[in-house]
Amino acid sequence: MENKIKDGVSSAKGMPLWFKILIGMVAGVIVGAVFGESSELIKPIGTLFISAIKMLIVPLIFCSLVVGVTSMKDTTKMGRIGLKSIVFYLTTTAVAISIGLGLGIFFEPGAALNMVASTTNEVKASPSLVDTLVGLIPKNPIGALAAGNILQIIVFALGLGIALNLVGEKSEPVVKFFEGLAEAMYKMTELVMKFAPYGVFALMAWVSGKYGLELLLPLIKVIGLVYLGCILHVLFLGGGLVGLFGKLNPKRFYKGIIEAQVIAFTTTSSSGTLPASIKCATENLGVSRSISSFVLPMGATINMDGTALYQGVLALFIAQAFGVDLSTADYLTIIATATLASIGTAGVPGAGLIMLSLVLSTVGLPLEGIAIVAGIDRILDMARTTVNVTGDLMVTLLIGKSEGELDLERFNNKQTNAPIND
Ligand code: ASP
Repeated sequence: MENKIKDGVSSAKGMPLWFKILIGMVAGVIVGAVFGESSELIKPIGTLFISAIKMLIVPLIFCSLVVGVTSMKDTTKMGRIGLKSIVFYLTTTAVAISIGLGLGIFFEPGAALNMVASTTNEVKASPSLVDTLVGLIPKNPIGALAAGNILQIIVFALGLGIALNLVGEKSEPVVKFFEGLAEAMYKMTELVMKFAPYGVFALMAWVSGKYGLELLLPLIKVIGLVYLGCILHVLFLGGGLVGLFGKLNPKRFYKGIIEAQVIAFTTTSSSGTLPASIKCATENLGVSRSISSFVLPMGATINMDGTALYQGVLALFIAQAFGVDLSTADYLTIIATATLASIGTAGVPGAGLIMLSLVLSTVGLPLEGIAIVAGIDRILDMARTTVNVTGDLMVTLLIGKSEGELDLERFNNKQTNAPIND
């Protein structure tokens, strides 16, 4: 495989890509603050960028998962990695929501508000767990690919990969075909990412122009708490899990994933960030392709640490704002519902808000609460998506290490010319 990356962290022309993206982000905030709503004019540049990465998602997930499975001939290994990922993903999500609830209890963000609920609403269109599980199998895989139903695509890709392995020799041309296509998708990701600084600049200018201070001030406590919780959780993932549990340098982890974090922050979509996450995991962190392409797409779909944390804070904010007392059983229900609901939620902008309606209704909280925060949801979505993606990458790194599929030289940035591990 002639995939030689010149430098794990830097782009070809001196300035590292992540640094260019950061500059784009800061410049965007400034332009948005200066020009206000008229910054909307440059939003199409951001939309162009989002469309370009969205274009990659379906073929990238599909090919990389098929290749991920076919490169893991050993089915016990695949089962083990799958199980480990799910356990890690669900545990970190439960920790995240507990952090959110803890902050909500301690800081009481909604205590100053005295809202009255008109009715206790019915749940909106949140899928139930049973629906989610039943809907896992696509009746028509091409339809699932066309509709971009990620969970169904994952199931079909896993099935196809396993079948190709079982067929053996006869299926080799097909395996080669998918390997070639996956490589092409990685290459396209690299090209699209070169455009990231400009896309990020435009998106940030639009967001900061749209949400002036006036809109943010009344809800500043909720925003502050969600951001504080997100920072705490990222520190827990990096310092606690990567550092103490994985015995790896957290600073290298953070540095290696910054490109993906900025893309997550600006696009508010973990599925959309997937190409960048795979790139960071393989090129910067040194996790093998087969682990990254198996664990990350799963994470982008089922792992939502940031979203769960946000739900913890928001559920308490709304309970306090409407003067509803929650019992210990309610807290446990919130933790269980948010953790399980995260499996069925797509990593797309605003999905967390819909999930929030599910969490609120299971403990009988008024759904009007959603209306109060819907206006600033994008600001919260930026933080939670970044945490979602950080969680995915953390789990991928630890699984890579535990399976002996982590290139430590690359992780520590000692040897920059090594080819990417398959
Ligand atoms: N936007 C989030 C994501 O893509 C989901 C959410 O809305 O919480 O990860």
